[in-house]
Amino acid sequence: MEMEELTPHIEELKRVLGDKVDEEQIIEDLNRYINEYHTGISSAKRGILRKYGAGDVTSFATAASVVKKISELNGNEQNVDIIAKVVFVDVKNITVKGLSKTIVSGILGDETGTASFTIWEPGALTLDRGSVYAFKNCYCRLWNEKVQINLGNRGRVEASNLSIQVPERTIDVSSVAEVKIANIKEGMGSVTVTGKIISTEQRSVVVKGEPKTVYAGVIADDTGKIQFSAWSDHGLKEGETICVKNGYIRSWKSIPQLNIGDRSEVSRVDAVFDAVGGGATFRTIDEITRIGGGLDIKVQGMIVDVRAGSGLIKRCPQCNRSILNGTCATHGVVEGINDLRMKIVVDDGTGAIGAVINRADTEKITGVNMSAAEGLASVQGEGVVARELTAKVLMKRIALTGNVISDNFGPSMVVHSAELVKEDVASEAAKLLEEVEGSL
Ligand SMILES: [Zn+2]
Repeated sequence: MEMEELTPHIEELKRVLGDKVDEEQIIEDLNRYINEYHTGISSAKRGILRKYGAGDVTSFATAASVVKKISELNGNEQNVDIIAKVVFVDVKNITVKGLSKTIVSGILGDETGTASFTIWEPGALTLDRGSVYAFKNCYCRLWNEKVQINLGNRGRVEASNLSIQVPERTIDVSSVAEVKIANIKEGMGSVTVTGKIISTEQRSVVVKGEPKTVYAGVIADDTGKIQFSAWSDHGLKEGETICVKNGYIRSWKSIPQLNIGDRSEVSRVDAVFDAVGGGATFRTIDEITRIGGGLDIKVQGMIVDVRAGSGLIKRCPQCNRSILNGTCATHGVVEGINDLRMKIVVDDGTGAIGAVINRADTEKITGVNMSAAEGLASVQGEGVVARELTAKVLMKRIALTGNVISDNFGPSMVVHSAELVKEDVASEAAKLLEEVEGSL
């Protein structure tokens, strides 16, 4: 790539990194990614931002606010614009750190649903019930599993002349949209799903002192699979195909789950598709970032970083959590047990994802086993182990399968299986040539 083509990207990086890094260093880094590692320009930029600790790998994407409908909110938004009707509004006086303060709160609604809101610095602002406004630079939080919209001192409210119909709160079962499992996202609310039962289980839980049974399992269609749970026994059996009308989507660590509640209808249907079954579902990292998380997902990309906390670590013998300096946060001073792991960042050209690889897969893909690692550490120190592992895998292609969860740091995968992907350039080229010649 020529210098001229790189200029806008260098300017963009300079803007994000500020005076932390000088231009020469940025150019050198970009050159290394593009000409030595042969990554795309967006992977290169994400790598450079990570290298200089410019926080979140999605910095570019989150610089500007996004516009969302209320049903699309998941409670993690940092900067979001919402156009909505004021369904209810109230001015309250509260006491914060001994000081009296006026806030405006109430309920906002749009075509997709309703949510409560709070304006923390209203000044002279007044809102009219029934009027539509654009609420800009909001942030959202989850409270009791419900999304709350907040406007802090960066927030703005502008009158809007849009007309919005807020639906009645009663849900008509027949109108709830049928969705494919791969398209299920956090905060979707009510859905209708048709799929095949892959597994079932019963769990005992205690709710408000009362023992209860949860009827749970995994259901799949031809696009993906999802965990379901119900408080009542619908007699669901492995292998049968069911339609759940008016199920409800809730998320645990941003992995969506299908809840079958009192207002859901369950019916048996004839199977009309092949469920994805036992195999993992292939996704791009961009798709994962949009969906938030999921079970049994497969990604493939390049290892662009091996993070701190990789290599030889010690775990508490009682709770199995990793410990520092021989001390467990819960169990105090303990005799730690050695373990090997890698915390890697994988970039597939559409985005980046963090992944934690356990001992067995770390040994398999690096060829460094536990006793070799212990040997290295005893001679040259533990830091050498991480450097050795890094040297074996950095800038190699890898295929990962596991469960993806999301938090404030973005999506990360708990890996169930990992495999390096051989880049067989010669045979790829031969195959391509064959295809080209075959089409002549
Ligand atoms: Zn412990």
